[in-house]
Amino acid sequence: MGQGDRQANTSEARNVGTAIIGAGMSGLVMGIRLKNAGRPFRILEKAQSVGGTWRENTYPGLACDVPSFFYALSFEPNPDWSHRFSPGREICEYFEGVAKKYRLHDDIDFGIEITDARFEDGGWTIQAGNGEVIRADFLIDATGPLHIKNYPQIEGLDDFEGTMFHSAAWDHSAPLEGKRIGVIGNGSTGVQMMAPLSKVASELTMFQRTAQWVYPIGNRTYTERERKWTRRLPVLGALTRFVYRQLFNRASAGVVEDGFWRKQMAKGCREHLETVKDPELREKLRPDYEPGCKRLVMSTDFYPTLEKEHVHLETGGIDHIEAGGVVTEDGKLHELDVLVLATGFSAHEWGIANVVGLNGIGQKEAWAEGPRTYRSVTMPGFPNFFMIVGPNSPIGNISIIEVSETQTRYILDCIERLDQSPGKAIMPRREAAERFQAKLGEAMKDTIWVTGCSSWYVGPDGAPTLWPWTAPEFHRQMKKPDFVDFEFIDAV
Ligand code: NAP
Repeated sequence: MGQGDRQANTSEARNVGTAIIGAGMSGLVMGIRLKNAGRPFRILEKAQSVGGTWRENTYPGLACDVPSFFYALSFEPNPDWSHRFSPGREICEYFEGVAKKYRLHDDIDFGIEITDARFEDGGWTIQAGNGEVIRADFLIDATGPLHIKNYPQIEGLDDFEGTMFHSAAWDHSAPLEGKRIGVIGNGSTGVQMMAPLSKVASELTMFQRTAQWVYPIGNRTYTERERKWTRRLPVLGALTRFVYRQLFNRASAGVVEDGFWRKQMAKGCREHLETVKDPELREKLRPDYEPGCKRLVMSTDFYPTLEKEHVHLETGGIDHIEAGGVVTEDGKLHELDVLVLATGFSAHEWGIANVVGLNGIGQKEAWAEGPRTYRSVTMPGFPNFFMIVGPNSPIGNISIIEVSETQTRYILDCIERLDQSPGKAIMPRREAAERFQAKLGEAMKDTIWVTGCSSWYVGPDGAPTLWPWTAPEFHRQMKKPDFVDFEFIDAV
């Protein structure tokens, strides 16, 4: 688009006040905060419904391994959770219910994919895939880190003649009953689907590249009686949430500092591995790195599933894929009818394709050596731009719901601050961001994530994109924006 066309388009464009990209959990929370504050906003969502990751992932066995009473908004308790770790569909329905309650559907443009946003003429010009140009004073990226599917680079992948799909694009029309099913990948996703698939498959094979530590936390069903009491006495739900929150926030200290919780995590995983009866299988499952270095997998049914007669664990490495199935490095063809790619996400392709701040510098250019933020939420050189669950958010530490609630409150504080400075835009000072990055790098040395493993937690620059401090430290740093660390520039 030429400069002249751009100017013509921006003057005609609708101004939405604040543009939030994505109607997943974080985008919805931001919308609720802005709505409660009486501020104009639009949520721009590429799909036709809300829920983000919980809308996209529908694989068998999908659940959240954070307890449901904690994996819920603090201001929207739900007494009706069916399980300690409720199924994905239920979580999606919970967020759909929240969106309905706050009448957020009136504030969402569905089916609008944002490809480009740039700060110009004191605000953001946002280009949608359908050709529409939107203007906004504030731009909030709520796209999250786990939505771009990672398709494995395996020779012959497209030659497979059976049914093949990524775990986040489950083909529910594909018959599974009595089929020979292969699963590539043994992260949280691959592990969760094994038990239900084993109930329908004639043969089920998991292709494991790197062994995973598995921590055993059993799921359990809440009885109708328990739910009735929680409905009658909301304090019971609040108490359950409080207990899980304390437990999770304390135990998660194990990933950022050595000590009691790290030892407990390791002990739990190692003891659980010893429950595998077959010594050969047990050794195949034994990782050669510290528990917690990769994102811990939680399951009590994974090992028993692998011990079933018709379930196999292949660790020999995949050589290539051909029409009939997967060929491992020993030359053996594993014939398959269905192949599931539980191969995760491109977790380091942050945000939308192109975000351009001051002086025409794009986010990708600014992050050429790895993501650089100020407290995960803002970036120097990008006025009135905010990220929810951006790089170095504590997604490997605490409930992501708590992360979003905290960051959205912080963002609203920044936006409201501008009421006292009309005509200005806010962004962090470069030296504040550099100070934050330096402290981050220093603290990262004590974390479990740098003890020697490959994982999606670690970016291409070799640095984990997680929060290297405890949960209380997150809440301390994010309680209120420290406005001396920000600058207010002319936005007119
Ligand atoms: P993931 O943890 O990134 O696991 C991807 C798996 O695919 C790994 O086992 C990886 O092996 C394997 N893989 C990738 N490329 C491969 C290739 N070319 N050849 C062979 N194997 C390959 O992805 P995920 O399981 O989808 O989970 C992603 C994240 O989503 C989780 O860590 C978690 O944060 C979140 N999640 C959460 C829940 C929940 O209950 N809260 C459930 C599911 C997912 P390597 O290990 O060797 O790389």
